[in-house]
Amino acid sequence: MSTKSNSASRMVAALVVVGLLGLAAAAVYQLHSFAVAATNGLTLNPDLFEGETHAAYLVAQRHPDLLAQLDCYCGCERHEGHKSLLDCFRTNHGATCATCTGEAITAGQLYENGTPPEQIRAILHQRYANGG
Ligand SMILES: [Zn+2]
Repeated sequence: MSTKSNSASRMVAALVVVGLLGLAAAAVYQLHSFAVAATNGLTLNPDLFEGETHAAYLVAQRHPDLLAQLDCYCGCERHEGHKSLLDCFRTNHGATCATCTGEAITAGQLYENGTPPEQIRAILHQRYANGG
């Protein structure tokens, strides 16, 4: 009798351990996929914003390769160490800067009309380089 209940409680303990291991594995997996999202999903979720800002973050999400080739003319490259227009949309910087949103929306429209990136660079330079 006592051996039987012993083995039953050992069984329960084993199940609890298995369950905990499963939870731990799930947590590690979630952390891992969060880390992957943080590096792959380069920019903030557009749904955090409205109007023009939403449109600009949407461009950044859809065309990160394009924005990585473009310069931002808002001065953030000096103040915040940004290397391209894409960097402005990794944080909420893009939401606070009319130059950033304007550039991204313009770039997105041109790009979706088939304008090559180097031409978009030139157009943005012309439009924004002198203080926008
Ligand atoms: Zn900027």
